[in-house]
Amino acid sequence: MTRHETPEIPNPDMVPAPSTKGCRNAPILKQRGQHEVFCGLTGIIWLHRKMQDAFFLVVGSRTCAHLLQSAAGVMIFAEPRFGTAILEEGDLAGLKNAQDELERVVQDLLARRTDIRQLFLVGSCPSEVIKLDLARAAERLSAQYAPKVRVLNYSGSGIETTFTEGEDACLAAMVPVLPDTDARQLLMVGALPDVVEDQALDLLAKLGIENVSVLPARTLDSGISVGPNTVFALTQPFLGGTHAALERRGARHIPAPFPFGEEGTTAWLLAVAQEFGVDQAHFDAVTDAPRARARRAIAKAGETLSSKSIFFFPDSQMEIPLARFLTRECGMQAIEVSAPFIHKGIVGPDMDLLDEGPTIAEGQDVDLQLDRCRNARPDLTVCGLGLANPLEAEGLATKWAIELVFSPVHFYEQAGDLAGLFSRPLRRREMLRLEAAE
Ligand code: SF4
Repeated sequence: MTRHETPEIPNPDMVPAPSTKGCRNAPILKQRGQHEVFCGLTGIIWLHRKMQDAFFLVVGSRTCAHLLQSAAGVMIFAEPRFGTAILEEGDLAGLKNAQDELERVVQDLLARRTDIRQLFLVGSCPSEVIKLDLARAAERLSAQYAPKVRVLNYSGSGIETTFTEGEDACLAAMVPVLPDTDARQLLMVGALPDVVEDQALDLLAKLGIENVSVLPARTLDSGISVGPNTVFALTQPFLGGTHAALERRGARHIPAPFPFGEEGTTAWLLAVAQEFGVDQAHFDAVTDAPRARARRAIAKAGETLSSKSIFFFPDSQMEIPLARFLTRECGMQAIEVSAPFIHKGIVGPDMDLLDEGPTIAEGQDVDLQLDRCRNARPDLTVCGLGLANPLEAEGLATKWAIELVFSPVHFYEQAGDLAGLFSRPLRRREMLRLEAAE
């Protein structure tokens, strides 16, 4: 395995231009074999915090209930906004009418929880295996409980999915029922922590971009709509289904690098600003100060990261934009950047900026990929929870990909924290090494 030269860190005062040696057209290693991923139910953990009047009812097994309960760490006295309608053996064997059972559960839930305005019926592996028609159930229940409650369905199953597809499926399910509009507007798409979303909206307002909505909205009554004069910018790279659903409604995507780090955030904002005719002087006036803050914050963590090598296993679908950030802004060397899916219409602008050199891989054959990782001995490996412990035991420093979705990492004010997420495991390993040497 050869490592490519340390990429030149771009002059931060320049608006990034596509690298002449970007990897958009680099060969992609495509592998299909055993893969190690979490299921799409995981998205409920951050979506239920974001959508304040929603409830996520998983139609699944006790395993699904345990996954959610342990991953969300909900205290038992809290009233969570998710739950599981557990399919019992009788349902699975077709002995009972699962549709009737589900309707009864929904009736009880809505009678008890009058705060619920949006109910998502979330499919799982067991509900898909018995071919329970949740779309039909959602349609019937929506008609029954409208206008107070909107009932939608999507799949969070772990059959051939990766964990971020849950959010994508949820957002895509909302698009067809959004009201029509002819208004010229920007839709910012992706579930961000409220504080990060507010920062982004503040920047857009300062740029003079009016009429901005966010999908997912915090509540059902937020007035979000879509139509042929809507343009949308994604804040997460795993929203391929939502992207397609919005285009079907006539909206147009603004392709841009993702707002990770100073450079990515500037490029993302610039793409939106250009769409709305914001002049460069005004753009600079708004972004100069936060850009400088972001650069200072990144430089601090960058001292640990500079010249270190990194290997990405496919998990969150954020791998390509993160590799772009870590190589160009933190001086890391990417050995392999693999993602579960590579949608060039979405991550193409990040691929333009990511220098050629690392292996770009799509999909996974986990044993072969582990061999490549062991041979390369990267300084840092980004992977799922299932691979992290074994790799740590083999002396490799790891970063859990799922943390990148749970942590506030977007836009200028989080750029230093994003770099810090990658520098911490390296510093911890160095401290352990020094302690062992004493
Ligand atoms: S949806 Fe499938 S993979 Fe996810 S917890 Fe349930 S059974 Fe497991």
